[in-house]
Amino acid sequence: MSRERVRSTHALILRRRDVNDADRVLTVLTPGDGKLELIAKGVRKTASRKAGHLELFVHAAMLVAQGRTWDIITEVQTVESFRHLRNNLEAIAVASYICELIDAFAETGDELRTIWDLALFALRVLDEAATQGDPPPNLRPWFDLHLLSLTGFQPQFFRCLACEKPLEPTVNFLALHEGGVLCPQCAPQRNDVEALDLDTLKLLRFFQSQPWSAVAPVTVRTPILRRVESVLNRYLIVTLERHVRSAVFLRRVAAVSNSPEA
Ligand SMILES: [Zn+2]
Repeated sequence: MSRERVRSTHALILRRRDVNDADRVLTVLTPGDGKLELIAKGVRKTASRKAGHLELFVHAAMLVAQGRTWDIITEVQTVESFRHLRNNLEAIAVASYICELIDAFAETGDELRTIWDLALFALRVLDEAATQGDPPPNLRPWFDLHLLSLTGFQPQFFRCLACEKPLEPTVNFLALHEGGVLCPQCAPQRNDVEALDLDTLKLLRFFQSQPWSAVAPVTVRTPILRRVESVLNRYLIVTLERHVRSAVFLRRVAAVSNSPEA
C-alpha cells in the first residue's frame, strides 16, 4: 500500500516526549487514522513557530510528511486551543485524564472517528464550563463509560452476566473481572464479586446510556458519585491489566482510586 508523501490531518495532542536535541515526538489522535506518533523537528528551539500549536490537548490542523521512523509534522495551525480550561487546574487535570485514557485505549488504525468526536466534545464541554468555574462532576464518569463502549469494553449493567435475565431493582453483585453484574441468584456461585447497591447501578446505567445533554443537568449526591467513580476506576484497571496497553496510565488510575476521598 502506498501513501501520499504529504497529507493533511486534524490531530489532538495526547502526549509528548523529547527526542534528539530539539525535537519532540507527539502522540496524537486523528479522526481518520486513530492514534499516531509524529515528530516535530526543532520544536524545542525558542524560535520555533510550531511549538505553541503543539501543546497538550490542542486540536491542530497539520501537514504530515512521510518519514523514516516517524512521520514528520511540516506545518501546523491551532484549530481549537481550549484556552479557558487552561486557566483552571481542575479542568487541566480532567483534560489530561481524558487524553491519557484515550491514549491507553485507542490504537493505530482503529475505526476511531467516534472516539475523535467524543474527545473533542468532552474538551469543549470542559472549556465551556471553565468560563463559569470547575469541571462538571458528571463529565468524567460519563466520558469513561462512553469511551469504554466505543472501544469495545462496555461493561454490562442491564442483564445478569450468567443467566442473562434483566437485573431486578435490588442489591446485585459487581463482577469486575467478568465485565459486569450478576443477579442475586447467580452471584453466590462466583468468587470475586461485591454487592452493588441499586442507586449506584442506576447511575452507572444512566451515564452509560444517556447523551451528555441528559447527564449534564443532573445533580448527583457526592457519596453515590464517589461509588460510581470507584467502580469505574477499578473496572478501568482490570480492563487495562488484561489488555496491557498503558502501564503508566494504569499506575495513575490506581493512585487515584487509592487516594483518600476529598
Ligand atoms: Zn443471573
